[in-house]
Amino acid sequence: MAMSSAFQSRHKLIAPMDLNSKLASHLQTIPRSGIRDFFELVIGRDDVISLGVGEPDFVTPWPIREAAMRSLDRGETSYTSNLGLLSLREKISEYVETFFHVPYRGSDEVLITVGVSEALDLALRALVNPGDEVVYHEPCYVSYSPSIVMSHGVAVAVATKKEDGFSLKPEALAAVITSRTKIVMLNFPTNPTGAVASREDLEGIAKLCIEHDLIVISDEIYSELRYDEEEHLSIAALPGMRERTILLHGFSKAFAMTGFRLGYACAPTVLIEAMMKIHQYGILCAPITSQAAALEALTGGEDLYLSMKESYHQRRDFLVGRFNEMGIDCHCPGGAFYVFPDISKFGLSSKDFAMGLLESEQVAAVPGDAFGESGEGFLRCCYATGMDDLKSAMDSIERYIGTL
Ligand code: PLP
Repeated sequence: MAMSSAFQSRHKLIAPMDLNSKLASHLQTIPRSGIRDFFELVIGRDDVISLGVGEPDFVTPWPIREAAMRSLDRGETSYTSNLGLLSLREKISEYVETFFHVPYRGSDEVLITVGVSEALDLALRALVNPGDEVVYHEPCYVSYSPSIVMSHGVAVAVATKKEDGFSLKPEALAAVITSRTKIVMLNFPTNPTGAVASREDLEGIAKLCIEHDLIVISDEIYSELRYDEEEHLSIAALPGMRERTILLHGFSKAFAMTGFRLGYACAPTVLIEAMMKIHQYGILCAPITSQAAALEALTGGEDLYLSMKESYHQRRDFLVGRFNEMGIDCHCPGGAFYVFPDISKFGLSSKDFAMGLLESEQVAAVPGDAFGESGEGFLRCCYATGMDDLKSAMDSIERYIGTL
């Protein structure tokens, strides 16, 4: 927008600065998020059904909100310890031992962060030296590659395949390990594919990490949202892995607490201490109100999210069924709240397919290439959306593909 001359004279702007040239050079290699680009087209349009944003459509359960309000009512408005409230860290330690079967001391092996997002950034910045290679499986959460680059690492993607249920196969991982590889990042269940890894795959990955002395950053933010198997298996629970794994988890997804911005990292003390250094100077501590809410979430546990999980399960079955009925191959994801149908047979790029769907039927879904090159030919549909909207969206998609 052109600046008014009154503004210019008030601020004595003589010649505009080239601010781009001032930016850190590694930032220039990072593209804008494909999700953001796409959703800027949708903002402000209330005629659109969105299967786009990876956020629960439920409000945070009442007891959790009430705990936040009670904390404020008690006047708890201060900083906490840099690591987070000890009471919450101890609760997390109990929860993680019960749920993931891995023991961590609340005193010095748990760090409370501003979402898993911050924990991920801290883990990378604590470990990566310039030029270290960080391997991750793709299609993946949009922040992985940029976070690696922002910590001056080299991002190495391993493509996963629909035929393997988008799990990371140990052979594929072995093929990219070099003498510069330092970290393997895992995310099961996966955003955007909903993939879960089998015990066999995790054991194969663990074996390689031990053989090559690698650290694992395991983002298990969707671990409660699994629909087919009884128990979630964390790689940290496998023999020899606790000592080399940073386990990341948080409250955004199962407990529908995205706005509270709360997550945590569990790891051996040396790693937590290193992450804490960055956290204490950059963030200080996670917000105390959110920590009080999180304490209530873990106290209520499964009872607080079970009904949401049942809805997601029904919606997953509905979407996978409808896609396959209309002749679009859609693997049945074991977890999270996304389906990732294969739309390659229509001969359009995933961006063109998604744009066409938006323009002709007012349904927004994210083009698969937003999650890395190997996502091309797919579409991410998030089913954290009410059933009525999902039904209309599927009717619309059926009409749309009829025109292709
Ligand atoms: N990790 C994955 C795989 C995600 O899908 C997301 C959010 O969508 C995050 C991390 C960020 O979570 P948080 O809200 O805890 O920062």
